[in-house]
Amino acid sequence: MRRAVYASIRQAADGLWSLARAIDRRFPERSFQPKWAPAPLLKQRERTFPPLGFPRKTDSLCPRCVSEVRAQILTGEADWKVLIEGRPGEIPAEIVEEDGRILMRKECPRHGRFEDVMSTDPAFYRRLESMYPGRDFVIPKDGLHEHGTSSIQYGRGAVLTIDLTNRCNMMCDPCFMDANQVGYVHELDWEDVQKLLDDAASIKPRRQLSVQFSGGEPTLSPHFLPAIRYARKLGYFSVQCATNGIRFAQDEQFAKEAAEAGLRFAYLQFDGVGNEHNQHRKVGNLYDVKLRAIENLHKHGVDVTLVVTIVNTINDDQVGDIIRFGLQNLDKVTCVAFQPVSFTGRDEDIDDETRKRQRYTLSHLAHDVKRQAGIGEPMRDWYPLSAAGPFSDLKDLLGGLEAEWGSFKCGCHPNCGIGTLMLVEEKTKKAVTVPSVLDVDRLHAAVARLVDDGVPVLLVRGRMSDLVSADKAAQFVARFPVVEFVDVSDAGHMVAGDRNDAFTAAVLDFLGRHRG
Ligand code: SF4
Repeated sequence: MRRAVYASIRQAADGLWSLARAIDRRFPERSFQPKWAPAPLLKQRERTFPPLGFPRKTDSLCPRCVSEVRAQILTGEADWKVLIEGRPGEIPAEIVEEDGRILMRKECPRHGRFEDVMSTDPAFYRRLESMYPGRDFVIPKDGLHEHGTSSIQYGRGAVLTIDLTNRCNMMCDPCFMDANQVGYVHELDWEDVQKLLDDAASIKPRRQLSVQFSGGEPTLSPHFLPAIRYARKLGYFSVQCATNGIRFAQDEQFAKEAAEAGLRFAYLQFDGVGNEHNQHRKVGNLYDVKLRAIENLHKHGVDVTLVVTIVNTINDDQVGDIIRFGLQNLDKVTCVAFQPVSFTGRDEDIDDETRKRQRYTLSHLAHDVKRQAGIGEPMRDWYPLSAAGPFSDLKDLLGGLEAEWGSFKCGCHPNCGIGTLMLVEEKTKKAVTVPSVLDVDRLHAAVARLVDDGVPVLLVRGRMSDLVSADKAAQFVARFPVVEFVDVSDAGHMVAGDRNDAFTAAVLDFLGRHRG
């Protein structure tokens, strides 16, 4: 978490540096199209939005029709192309506020009515939607994004999930994939793996993605290590695996080999603290296994994200303990990702009553973090993942026209996922959220404004700074010629503290020249 905070601060600093880019005369306003991009980068005012707010209508699926059509395809009764051409199971839905909740309602002419809870806090839901920064690129038709009604139309994607195998060394319930149980092994050949990665890296926008090898249990695939190696060779930075951790716990050498191949992150299944809180996964000592996996991965430099499949009435009471575990293991655990159960795979035939009981939403999570861990305020500290988009836009500007890759950018719908960052005191492990000490709304707005309009930049350096050397400053100014530079003598890094007179004079002079 500490590293994540530092990364965020670094991102903010990147943003300030890249102000220069926004006014760089080399790049006229409407034609900033780096070679990785399919079109000029969009400004905020040019972005479009999906329908948001409530009540609203949306498109949805009948869960029963979906199972039926899949069964027909598997038995050969229907051609798979029906998924693209036939719109099977598609039904309209309505999102409404009722009794302090946000509900989705839909009706299938054959299977009747369905209702589900999307949020238990309408104000929280409304706030998340209000922070959506708008869509990214319109995706050109390239033969890879066309899937019928669910064709990908906007954005650059954030996570490339490659399911290497449907085999697994566990038999969980819940299992998002129904691993092991479908009656056949489905495993990618090496050529398939290569093609998926090649395709992802060759289309426009050519951008950084989180490449996530998944399954089943991806470590069981014979292509696991070569796939990591190949993804890194292509130029992806964030290569990770979604794993139950068993192989990494059993075999430290395997953890070492994965790290050497280029594995950066392990997205480690972790449903609770203590063996008793993992028992629903049907392995008696699963918590002990996780601890050993974390040790082995950490030893060889692989960062661990704890991934909690959170199911109401099963492990929702573990939110606080898991966060405390993360804080106590700050050196090994970078992030905690709570993933509300999605009732796919093994759980898709769940009855309505159980689904209602087990449904867990983003609003549940924000409130449980406050209630169980004593951290954060739901209405202040949580942001849709896409709210970080302006920082990616800044990075793209900074990269310039010749950049090989666009930045990683999560443009998902504001109902999709939320996040917050924490600052942790190293000795006491006491945590506060970043938004509790920094006006993040204002920061987001400022960065978005910078991307759109550009702002003149003044770099003031204390000549005795031990952080910004004369060489570094000169390199920066050479790279961004529009940056104005003042080098204040007799001042250290905190220029204003040492030579407030010189600092103020430089700023006033700068403002005077750029006024209105
Ligand atoms: S949830 Fe993960 S670990 Fe469990 S059976 Fe499914 S793929 Fe395997």
